[in-house]
Amino acid sequence: MKCSYLAVFVGLMGYVDSAGTASAQQRFERPPKKQITVIGAGVTGLTTAITLQEKGKYQVTIVAETWPNDHPKPHYTSHWAGGHHCTAAGPERRGPSPAESVQDTFKVFWEMSEAGHEAQKAFIRTPQSEHYFDGRGHPRVPETIPDFKILPKSELLPGAVSGISFTIINFDPTVYLPYLHKRFLAAGGKLAHGSIQHITQVIEGGSAVFEGRAPTPPAAVIVCAGLGARSLGGVEDKNVTAARGQTVVLHAPWVHFGATRRKSWDGIFSYVIPRHGGNIVLGGTLTKDDWYVPAHCTLSFVAPALARDCPPGARRDGRAPTVGDLYPLIVEEGVGLRPEREGGIRIEAEWVEANGIKAPVVFHYGHGSSGFESSWGSAAMAVELLEKVLKNETGSSA
Ligand SMILES: Cc1cc2nc3c(=O)[nH]c(=O)nc-3n(C[C@H](O)[C@H](O)[C@H](O)COP(=O)(O)OP(=O)(O)OC[C@H]3O[C@@H](n4cnc5c(N)ncnc54)[C@H](O)[C@@H]3O)c2cc1C
Repeated sequence: MKCSYLAVFVGLMGYVDSAGTASAQQRFERPPKKQITVIGAGVTGLTTAITLQEKGKYQVTIVAETWPNDHPKPHYTSHWAGGHHCTAAGPERRGPSPAESVQDTFKVFWEMSEAGHEAQKAFIRTPQSEHYFDGRGHPRVPETIPDFKILPKSELLPGAVSGISFTIINFDPTVYLPYLHKRFLAAGGKLAHGSIQHITQVIEGGSAVFEGRAPTPPAAVIVCAGLGARSLGGVEDKNVTAARGQTVVLHAPWVHFGATRRKSWDGIFSYVIPRHGGNIVLGGTLTKDDWYVPAHCTLSFVAPALARDCPPGARRDGRAPTVGDLYPLIVEEGVGLRPEREGGIRIEAEWVEANGIKAPVVFHYGHGSSGFESSWGSAAMAVELLEKVLKNETGSSA
């Protein structure tokens, strides 16, 4: 067929050509991005949203009540994480997160903590020792954990039965969460402040209803509401409860190693966690079904931890510092409510209908004590499930 310049021009302008085939505009245009709404801007919501947004084929909007830069609240748990990437990720790992998700996240954190990485200041690699106070011994840890060693009796804390040491990656949520937030925006992600009463609000109107725009139903919704999953309408998961944790952050730049006292490998007694930038975290209590929000008295909380675990570098004139010595060093103290879930993390999908509009909803919450250390692995699992459901678009449960 002879092709005139006019036909080429018209074709390029996107009009239907004489044979009625797809126009050039249609051929060259990318398919529209699927709109996805993520509920929650804690570590789970942000990591899931980044994983999706960086694929390039979705337009993700996060709707959340609390964001990394807001005033910290106890039920915005991510702010309060200690936080270390724990090594108890061996094959018989207990706890809410599958071992693979923890190991996958370790690899990502290791990369992020390399010198020169844009997230590096959120991380620090330090020597860590863990001391076990019951006869069950230490968990089997992955062989890939750097500098792993079984502690000789002489290096155990008084009363400990066994112990291990290794190089750990610690993160500072007050630096890491803003990094995730920025990375999400840089990838083209959008956000909206909003308190959602029922997931059908989002299925019917999308994030638009929280931004004062005309309703736009999304292709799918992902619920990363943490503890909010217990009360959010349409989820109301009564297997989710609070596991209260209290910590104190001190400025103690001379402390360069961490130590954890564990009753067994799933019950924490106390820990010292150094962070990049010279702060350390003293913690951390863990009481299940405890919703008490105010911090218990710092004096009574810090004193026993100091007396027992004060690292040698923090001693003054050969003695452990008193609370009075340390009071001026306090940066922050507070309480976070871990989103503990009977049965572990929920990664499941369901189709939900709202006034004739149907959309798949992926539930991704219940990370308890390990939301950070499983974040990238767990987000990958939730996104894989979402893509499976979107591919089938059958209207049935996945
Ligand atoms: C003391 C302490 C120490 C910890 N140490 C560690 C550690 O060392 N390593 C580790 O991996 N983990 C640690 N954790 C656990 C970790 O903090 C949590 O697993 C993690 O923060 C859970 O994140 P999330 O995003 O699921 O929930 P959250 O951070 O609570 O985020 C939930 C989000 O959902 C939003 N939301 C909820 N309901 C609604 C609604 N109805 N409408 C709109 N938005 C809503 C909230 O506003 C928020 O943005 C610790 C926790 C505590 C308290």
